[in-house]
Amino acid sequence: MGNASARIVICGAGLAGISAAYYLAIEHGCENVVIVEQGNPLSLTSDKSTEAYRNWWPGPDSAMTAFMDRSIDLLEGIARATDNRINLNRRGYLFATADRGKIPFLHSMATMAEARGGGPARLHETASSPYVPSPERGFDLALTGADVIIDTGLIRRHFPYLAPETVAVAHARRAGWLSAQQLGMVMLEAIRERGVKLLRGTVVGIDTAGGRVRSVQVEKDGERQSLEATHLVLAAGPMQKEMGDLLGVDLPILAECHLKVSFPDPLGAMRPAPMLIWLDDQHLPWSEEERAALAEDEESRWLLEKFPWGVHGRPEGHGPGSTFIVLFNYSHGLSDVVFPLPEQPHYPEVALRGMATMVPALKAYIGTSARPYVDGGYYIKTRENRPLIGPLPVVGAYISSAYSGFGVMASCAGGELLASHITESPLPDYAPAFLLSRYRDPQYRALLDTWGDGGQL
Ligand SMILES: Cc1cc2nc3c(=O)[nH]c(=O)nc-3n(C[C@H](O)[C@H](O)[C@H](O)COP(=O)(O)OP(=O)(O)OC[C@H]3O[C@@H](n4cnc5c(N)ncnc54)[C@H](O)[C@@H]3O)c2cc1C
Repeated sequence: MGNASARIVICGAGLAGISAAYYLAIEHGCENVVIVEQGNPLSLTSDKSTEAYRNWWPGPDSAMTAFMDRSIDLLEGIARATDNRINLNRRGYLFATADRGKIPFLHSMATMAEARGGGPARLHETASSPYVPSPERGFDLALTGADVIIDTGLIRRHFPYLAPETVAVAHARRAGWLSAQQLGMVMLEAIRERGVKLLRGTVVGIDTAGGRVRSVQVEKDGERQSLEATHLVLAAGPMQKEMGDLLGVDLPILAECHLKVSFPDPLGAMRPAPMLIWLDDQHLPWSEEERAALAEDEESRWLLEKFPWGVHGRPEGHGPGSTFIVLFNYSHGLSDVVFPLPEQPHYPEVALRGMATMVPALKAYIGTSARPYVDGGYYIKTRENRPLIGPLPVVGAYISSAYSGFGVMASCAGGELLASHITESPLPDYAPAFLLSRYRDPQYRALLDTWGDGGQL
C-alpha cells in the first residue's frame, strides 16, 4: 500500500504516539495520519518523567545501546535544528558507591557497556589521571563511554557535593537530560503543519473483520464515530493492555508505579551535578531522637529498616529558582494501573533523606517548610525491559509501547522504527529485538531467565 492511500490511526498522544506520527508524516510523507487522544497530549506519563537519557546499557547484547545511540543522534539533530529548544545537555549519569567491594562491579559494567558499543571504559586510579569534566550546558562534548574513578581525591575535586564516604564513581558520558515537554511540542507543531490531525476522544473499539484492521471506534461525550483505518498504532501507554484486549492480542506487559518529587534548591546543593545514582543499600539518616520516636511507633518503624540501592536525582534549572528532583523506588514491585496514582504520604521524606545520604548538603532541607511537589506515573514494561515496536498479529495493527523508564530517550528511535515498519522501509539491525514475535522463539524465552532487567532505575 502506498503512503498516500494509507489511513493511519494512532491511539495515544504521549511521546510514543506523537513520535510515530512525526516520523510517518515528516520522514515518509504519510498524508492521512490521525492521533486519537482521550486527554491532553503528553500529559499522562510523558511529562512526568525525569527526562534523562543515556547510551549506558550494559546487557546481554548490543540492541539497546544501538537503539539508544540512534535515538540520541536524532535528539541531537532536533536540538541542533531548533537552537536547542529541547534544552538537551550532556552532563552524564554518575553512579556512586561508598563500598570498595563494588569497584570491580562498576568497572565490569563500564567494560560491558563498552563491549555493547557504548564507548570506551577509562579507569582513573590516581589524582593526576586525565579525567575530563562535563560542561553544565550544551551537548557538544564528544566524549562517549564511561570514566570509572577510584581515586578519592579526584572524586572530591570534581564532585565535591558527594558524601565524603564515596570511594568510586562511574561517569557515563553520552547521557544527560532534556525537556521532554518541549521535545513533544516540537514534534507536535511539526506534524500539525503537515496536516496530522489530533482527535479528542477515547478508542473504544476496533473492527478487525477478516483478520485485518478496518476501522477504529472513538467515543467522545457519549457520541461515537468510526474512523476508517488501514493501519492502527497502539501507543496507549498505561492503557496498552486494554487496547491489546480490544484487538484480541494478549500483550506481555506489566506496570510499576514510580513517583518522583521535586524540592526547591535555594542553596544550589546539587546545581552543577550530572544525574546522580547511589548504588548502595542504606539506612535513612535520622537523628537519635527521631530514631527513638520511630522505633516506638509500630506504623513508622519500617522507616528504620534497610532501604535498597537506587535513589537517584538531578538538579533542574539555573539560578535562585532552581530545584532538584529525586526518585526512590524503594517499594519495587508490580502494580495495577490506577489513576489518580495511589498516595504514598512518606515518599517525599524518604526520597529526600535517601538522596541526602549521597548529597549530604540536602540535609539542610529536612524538616523545612519548603513544599515538595510529587508526581509520577507507570513504567509499562516487558519482563526483560525492552520495548515492543512493530507489527501485531492482526494485519494492519502495530504497537509502540513498553517504554518503561526510557520512553523519553527512546522516543525518537522508537517513532522512527515504527514508521519504518509501517512504510515497509529498510529496518535497522536492532529491529528484531523489539518485535512482539520474539517471544515465539523458545530459545529467547529460555534466555530471559538469565537476563535480569538491565539495571533499570
Ligand atoms: C516517574 C517516571 C520517571 C521517568 N523517567 C524517565 C527518564 O528519565 N527518561 C526516560 O527516557 N523515560 C523516563 N520515564 C519513562 C517515560 O516517561 C515513558 O516511557 C513515556 O513517557 C511513555 O510514553 P507513552 O507515549 O508510551 O505513554 P503516555 O505518555 O502515557 O501516553 C499514552 C497516551 O495514550 C492515551 N490513551 C490511552 N488509552 C487511550 C484510548 N483508549 N483512547 C485514546 N487515548 C488513549 C493516554 O491518555 C496518554 O496520553 C519515566 C517515567 C516515570 C513514570
